[in-house]
Amino acid sequence: MSYVDEVLEQVKAKNADQPEFLQAVSEVLDSLRPVIDANEELYRKNAILERITEPDRQIMFRVPWVDDNGQVQVNRGFRVQFNNAIGPYKGGLRLHPSVNLSIIKFLGFEQIFKNSLTTLPIGGGKGGSDFDPKGKSDREIMAFCQSFMTELGKYIGADIDVPAGDIGTGAREIGYMFGQYKRIQGMFEGVLTGKGLTWGGSLARTQATGYGLLYLTNALLKDHNIDIAGKTCAVSGSGNVAIYAIEKAQQLGAKPVTCSDSTGWIYDPEGIDVALLKEVKEVKRARLTEYAAARPSAEYHEKKNGEHGVWQYKVDLALPCATQNELDLEDAKMLVANGVISVTEGANMPTTLDATKYLQENGVLFVGGKAANAGGVATSALEMSQNSERLSWSFEEVDGKLKGIMETIYANISDAAKRYGVEGDYVAGANIAGFEKVVDAMLAQGVC
Ligand code: NDP
Repeated sequence: MSYVDEVLEQVKAKNADQPEFLQAVSEVLDSLRPVIDANEELYRKNAILERITEPDRQIMFRVPWVDDNGQVQVNRGFRVQFNNAIGPYKGGLRLHPSVNLSIIKFLGFEQIFKNSLTTLPIGGGKGGSDFDPKGKSDREIMAFCQSFMTELGKYIGADIDVPAGDIGTGAREIGYMFGQYKRIQGMFEGVLTGKGLTWGGSLARTQATGYGLLYLTNALLKDHNIDIAGKTCAVSGSGNVAIYAIEKAQQLGAKPVTCSDSTGWIYDPEGIDVALLKEVKEVKRARLTEYAAARPSAEYHEKKNGEHGVWQYKVDLALPCATQNELDLEDAKMLVANGVISVTEGANMPTTLDATKYLQENGVLFVGGKAANAGGVATSALEMSQNSERLSWSFEEVDGKLKGIMETIYANISDAAKRYGVEGDYVAGANIAGFEKVVDAMLAQGVC
């Protein structure tokens, strides 16, 4: 039995009750087979796979808080510190009723490789709680966040573990958690990222994921001697990632003609009016029907099951920026039939596995979210750097660094794929490039 298969068996036996974690480990180790097979003896002797699939530590704790009726509520808090071979643990805090240990371990495991890819010194971790922020009052949110941080604060620090936002944890929650940490520790340090601009946050963090996606897409196209200027794009979503992907695509001379939300989509052959989109989504927090009402060139379509939505149009570039599993095999076939050149993922796991395979087999340039949307976490790491220096960089400085990072990520994943005989497979290239750096550090640091 190969080393990968042996370790997969062990991980399954030890974590039988954790389906999400097992799926992530299988997918990552499968795509790493070329590099693991080539170094089997060294990795086996040093138990690299056994060590990389076992978190450094997993912390679970009670989070008691008092609701607006004076009733005590109890949630479960998690922080999985997975691997700090290349830097302090870093990863978001998810607040959602679906959160459990398996999901946090799955996300923390993936985070190791994604963070490594950013080229910055950050390890992998993830945390959260099964607390549901929906429908809670501001005071209840604060009570939860303070209680959560009272316990979590014992295990984190600017050089130890630096959590960030994720689903359910936005600027408000980061603020309450930061305030409680500061109060308990009696010091101001960059222990969380996603902070407000007046208290240690970074300029360009808002734009980072969408802009980064386009910097990487541009590097990919350039490498294939394709000019992004004049290319039409299908974008899904109309949230943070989608809006800034559309904005940067336009700045680079491309023409995004679609966007969507959970109830419908826009097709605007004249090109999306990004100022209007921001007004509708960021200011009014309204539906896309308002965009269509204000823009004569735009068509609005209500979402119906089984329809191809934004993927049915003839475009050069596809940029899925909404949610998981939003681009399936049928959509992929439609895109290929329409001659799409590239699919680069702004969202996490928007393309189903069979769709990814179909796109790759049909010569579409495909870069998965682990590399393509890494601009967000990279800019969080730049927030850490600014906090350590006690300086705030200008927008241009952060944006310039982000561009350089995304271009380097593309060069690294392309190079890793070539070195292991899978040229053009950027999914394998991303896993390999992220993995190699962590393994080098683990080997150098001995048995720990
Ligand atoms: P937002 O919540 O700001 O936006 C999500 C957008 O997707 C909204 O327009 C939402 O519509 C839409 N959407 C949700 N579900 C569907 C659906 N089923 N069909 C069509 N549209 C849908 O999230 P972000 O932009 O921040 O994140 C988008 C993705 O990118 C997520 O996968 C996230 O994990 C990933 N990501 C985000 C990063 C960041 O820095 N923001 C970093 C790395 C990854 P509606 O308004 O109707 O809900």
